Amino acid sequence: MNSALNILQTVFGYTSFRPQQEEVIADVMAGKDCFVLMPTGGGKSLCYQIPAIAIPGTAIIVSPLISLMQDQVTALKANGIKAAYYNSSLDDTQAHHVLMDLHSGELDLLYVSPERLLTEHFFNQLTNLRIALFAIDEAHCVSQWGHDFRPEYTKIGALRASFPHIPFIALTATAGPATQQDILHQLQLQNPQLHQTSFDRPNIRYSVKDKRQPQKQLLDFLQTQESSASGVIYANSRKKVEEIAEFLKTEDFSVAAYHAGLPAELRHKVHHQFIRDEVQIVVATIAFGMGIDKPNVRFVVHYDLPKNIEGYYQETGRAGRDGLNSEALLLFGAQDIATNRFFIEQMQNQEQQRIESFKLQSMISFAEAQTCRRSVLLNYFGEHTQQSCGNCDICLNPPKWFDGTEAAQKILSCVYRMNQSFGIKQVIDVLRGANNEKIRQHNHQSLTTYGIGKEYSATEWQSLIKQLIHLGYLFQDIQNHSVLKLTAAAKTVFKGEVNLQLALPKGELAAKGQTRSRKGVRSELLDSEQELFEALRQLRKEIADSEDIPAYQVFGDATLVDMVKKQPTTDGELLQVSGVGEVKLTRYGFEFLNLLREQKN
Ligand code: ADP
Ligand code: ZN
Repeated sequence: MNSALNILQTVFGYTSFRPQQEEVIADVMAGKDCFVLMPTGGGKSLCYQIPAIAIPGTAIIVSPLISLMQDQVTALKANGIKAAYYNSSLDDTQAHHVLMDLHSGELDLLYVSPERLLTEHFFNQLTNLRIALFAIDEAHCVSQWGHDFRPEYTKIGALRASFPHIPFIALTATAGPATQQDILHQLQLQNPQLHQTSFDRPNIRYSVKDKRQPQKQLLDFLQTQESSASGVIYANSRKKVEEIAEFLKTEDFSVAAYHAGLPAELRHKVHHQFIRDEVQIVVATIAFGMGIDKPNVRFVVHYDLPKNIEGYYQETGRAGRDGLNSEALLLFGAQDIATNRFFIEQMQNQEQQRIESFKLQSMISFAEAQTCRRSVLLNYFGEHTQQSCGNCDICLNPPKWFDGTEAAQKILSCVYRMNQSFGIKQVIDVLRGANNEKIRQHNHQSLTTYGIGKEYSATEWQSLIKQLIHLGYLFQDIQNHSVLKLTAAAKTVFKGEVNLQLALPKGELAAKGQTRSRKGVRSELLDSEQELFEALRQLRKEIADSEDIPAYQVFGDATLVDMVKKQPTTDGELLQVSGVGEVKLTRYGFEFLNLLREQKN
């Protein structure tokens, strides 16, 4: 029998296993049930694909989304593996062919939807076949505690008893402790071996910016990206999704909108174009989700504040599956907090309200954090770390602290003099001594605090005021036009009883300087290597188009980067490149080697 390592190298073309892959594979091959928790991009698929190839019989993979199944099957076939899917997208003839192949023992892997799996007809057929293993992908769908519950999934548990001697493997990237327990229980796994890797996604750079002029901030961000980079921009409403997409179109970006209100065909088309690199940017609501199994998403922007960290982490996790440098940017505005709170207040169920409030508050704390973003995220998921990551906005550009007592006193007394009846903007206008209609209307120019704060710009004051809110000296009365009010603790500042350390507001200039460096795939390459990379990309696109498959299914970006680094000239050398297995060598080796040899001469 072929060893796991041998399959990894000759079929998939990779040199070594990622954390936990080898252990999972060994357990499954020894007939044990496994529960695999790995972040997106961690390499879950190989955990069942390699045993599926090594163990005689067909592996049955349960998967919730048609697009995911198609994607996986095309990728497997590109590596010469016998795989098929069985779901509602097949017509009768196609379905018949798949079942014939299944019965003749032709298939190493069969992907099925839970609906099809549990039809009596199909189920009965399975009992007569040689089955290598069952894999339940996206296993959190089985649990009501998870955030993507699918009723059809709950019936999968019944399978376990019917196939007592076949290993089951459940896999997911999103499951808190309660969901984990529930998955084990629902799927009735037998003495499952738990395999968990860190949830960290070190190649994703997390950044948060105060939302000021979101469109301009978005443009500035996009201008720092490579011109060919793929990305997703999430916004909280359909209307906003369309507006942003329109705006980016006028700026000549290759962009499409996606939300649940669009016709199914159009959504399908957008998805397809995105996967094929025909559209670079998709602006979407969170409806654009699980089907995005595209490895080369270089950035995910949240234009609005997400409801909770679970969702945010899953959405940002769609960036950088291929392990190359990627970005996650959140634009964080106070108005979004109010909107989210409003929705929570509409909820009928008190318990649910409580949970959602807590989750929103955690999301806000993340956005407001002055410590490493990654450690805040990992701590939230129970992975405790005090280390700074070196790859988030805070680590790269740490706040400078200063004695903010005097500035705070100015703000607080201004709020007091204005009878705690005005919002942030008016307070700043008074501090800076603005001369406008609203100031005159309320006779604010006669306040003793009028014009006492010209040393800071409006945005700087805004940052300082927000810090006082986060520190609990001020609060925004959401029910009452978000006016600023003093808390009991404010007194200690007035009296000078505390020495207040505040973060020095970061000007736009500082933020700009940070984005000058080169981003994305290109950052892995030297200047002298860019041209070759571009030529390889071109060739890849031509081949992909002629075969009508997405470019990354010919070779991923990480493989092209490795090709540039190694510059192979023979079959043997090309096989050493990560992601080049024997079948792909036969299919594409000739053309790629030709190009590489030409470039050398
Ligand atoms: P997940 O399902 O956990 O999100 P995938 O199984 O899709 O992740 O794997 C993510 C990417 O990493 C894929 O492009 C896959 O081919 C690649 N990959 C997986 N295992 C390895 C490995 N051992 N070495 C190199 N690349 C790998
Ligand atoms: Zn950090």
